[in-house]
Amino acid sequence: KPMEGRISDIGPRKYDEFFPPVIKNNFGKWLYHEILEPGVLMHVAESGDKCYTVRVGGTRTMSVTHIRELCDIADKFCNGCLRWTTRSNIEFMVDSEEGMKALRDELNSRTFDGGSFKFPVGGTGAGISNMVHTQGWIHCHTPATDASGPVKAVMDALFDDFKSMRLPAPMRIALACCINMCGAVHCSDIGLVGIHRKPPMIDHEWTDQLCEIPLAVSACPTAAVRPTKIEHDGKKINSIAIKEDRCMYCGNCYTMCPALPISDGEGDGVAIMVGGKVSNRISMPKFSKVVVGYIPNEPPRWPTLTKTVKHIIEVYAANANKYERLGDWAERIGWESFFKLTGLEFTHHLIDDFRDPAYYTWRQSTQFKF
Ligand code: SF4
Ligand code: SF4
Repeated sequence: KPMEGRISDIGPRKYDEFFPPVIKNNFGKWLYHEILEPGVLMHVAESGDKCYTVRVGGTRTMSVTHIRELCDIADKFCNGCLRWTTRSNIEFMVDSEEGMKALRDELNSRTFDGGSFKFPVGGTGAGISNMVHTQGWIHCHTPATDASGPVKAVMDALFDDFKSMRLPAPMRIALACCINMCGAVHCSDIGLVGIHRKPPMIDHEWTDQLCEIPLAVSACPTAAVRPTKIEHDGKKINSIAIKEDRCMYCGNCYTMCPALPISDGEGDGVAIMVGGKVSNRISMPKFSKVVVGYIPNEPPRWPTLTKTVKHIIEVYAANANKYERLGDWAERIGWESFFKLTGLEFTHHLIDDFRDPAYYTWRQSTQFKF
């Protein structure tokens, strides 16, 4: 029996405490919404109430100063309410058109030293919203590419499409810095995936000291890792052997054993996948397919990756029908035509090796052997 007055759950407070009044009053009673202009949505409720949302681009990592400024804007216009979306966009909500216009103009007027926008308004409808992305070189242990770096470079090149809606349909892009894919790469119009092309290095001197060898063995999804004994400094020691043919470079064994580092300057890079989506408009939701097998990491601005993504989007924009997502367009014209129109090279690295005939198509598996 719970003790009276005892607080047994100190988790987050209930979400509806944080609703703006117009959301609270009309919860579950919304009729429809429209996009009034890039970055501005209007939701209309059964009661006739309207909620205007202004969406601005954010970053995955923000300074406290930047967040304070966002909160000051929310205090000034929105009773202190604002929300973050899964794409690191920030949404401000107000209940009148005049309020929306004043808020939008204020956001557009805030710049870095009179230069680029601090809070660019956009990311809605048939444009490019912010990229979903993962942790990158600093914050995870298995990345094959960075996250914030290539995302910043790619979004800089696509910025005009963040602020407009000239594309045939929404364009959603994601980046995952390894094939564990913490980002929504498999179901995005364009997915950028970090890939390793070499198996983990084995630091025999440390395997038995830093690792539980059975854990590293059982962590491997393809049974490529086995325990072994090797000669080291004149003694037999316990270590690990990796069967390279079976390794799909996932890095799981490194998660279990720090003596199996997998990052490699030459082997690592990025693959591009296209055609995924979660929407069921025109066609069912679908997985994306690999259309570029490997692009080397080119920090700090990833020029080849950026140019290739921009090129795919321009070819899609020039050829797709209105409302057609990238994958719907490619399927309507045929993937052969997709490769012809984009000029991307079709190589054997793109052929899938699944056994099931349903998957005899471009590579969707984790096997990116080179
Ligand atoms: Fe780490 Fe891979 Fe996730 Fe990137 S995608 S954060 S490397 S597990
Ligand atoms: Fe197995 Fe993945 Fe390690 Fe390769 S990287 S040995 S597939 S766990």
